[in-house]
Amino acid sequence: MTLAPADPADNFQPSYRVSRERFLEKLHRLSARLPVRVDSRAIAPRGPEGETLALDFAIVGARRPKHALVLSSGTHGVEGYTGSALQHWALDALLPRLALAADTAIVLQHANNPYGFAWHRRVNEDNVDPNRNFRDAFDPGQCSPDYEALYDCLNPADLHPDNEARRWAEIQAYIDREGLRRFQQVAVEGQYKFPRGIQFGGHRRSAGTQHLIDLTREHLAAAQTVIWVDFHTGLGESGACELICGAPLDSPAYAFAQEIWAGEVRSSQAGESISTPLNGLLDLGLQAVLPAGARFAFAFPEYGTWPPERVIRAMRSDNWLHHHGDLGDAAGRAIKAEMLEAFRPASRDWMRTVAAHGIGLVERTVARLPGASMRG
Ligand SMILES: [Zn+2]
Repeated sequence: MTLAPADPADNFQPSYRVSRERFLEKLHRLSARLPVRVDSRAIAPRGPEGETLALDFAIVGARRPKHALVLSSGTHGVEGYTGSALQHWALDALLPRLALAADTAIVLQHANNPYGFAWHRRVNEDNVDPNRNFRDAFDPGQCSPDYEALYDCLNPADLHPDNEARRWAEIQAYIDREGLRRFQQVAVEGQYKFPRGIQFGGHRRSAGTQHLIDLTREHLAAAQTVIWVDFHTGLGESGACELICGAPLDSPAYAFAQEIWAGEVRSSQAGESISTPLNGLLDLGLQAVLPAGARFAFAFPEYGTWPPERVIRAMRSDNWLHHHGDLGDAAGRAIKAEMLEAFRPASRDWMRTVAAHGIGLVERTVARLPGASMRG
């Protein structure tokens, strides 16, 4: 049996490659004591060390569960450090002391966007934000007029300091005029018109999106209860967590989320969350392929890292780098380092705080899952 690290910060892994290797190894060891099935679906690109990039859907417990708790990581690539840390904790500390009924499973879905995790991007190999890509139909003209007006400021063609100063002055003037929340809405809601712009939602489903839909449809085909937690970072006060639910306020999914996470969950639809309403969300896409009548509760825990301007700066510089720059030169390396810092701060205190919170959240959630109980 693996012993869980005493310091929650130790659950953080050094890279996608190492996280995946250890994840699969721990599952293999766990399979001596519990039923384990891993369904891995690779995407075409490789990681920086030539490694395979894959979504690994690991089902611990019932092979066709009636009741399932899914913990997923890395929808926004580089944000996967935090979600995978909690998956490693679950493998080391939660699953060994959990009693599961014959019809119940815990599912650990490692790296919804393995390309972004491995290459330290939020987007995937198509420059697509996966959390704007869960749609049936795509309109290549869909984009707010304000995004178009701010296009050059959001997606600079160069990073020359004089030009950057002018662009940030324009952004600031927009915020002064329309408010920070409106700017956030415009910058992050998702656009379908500019494939090289930030927050591009795609012109079709990306490979990883289709894999996740297929995995959910195939493995949760008998589900009556699905509680799903998809970990994110980069929005909110440093180290603080907001539990965001994207379901419409009058939907059963919102009511069930309130039942599971009473007092904790906030709706992004109702304006009560730090997140603004978004297009093409993963939870709505996954809910659509669950059996009719299945109870579904979904939450995005969002852990704050740095102030919004720093996070947006990192994203737009990273977008510039992948379209106009050189990953191998000093400027490119500095942008990648800042991208990591913006979504997984190097501070051990930050890691400890978010991992400790996430552990508590998962423990509270497991307690609401039918057929799961802690031993001793
Ligand atoms: Zn995210």
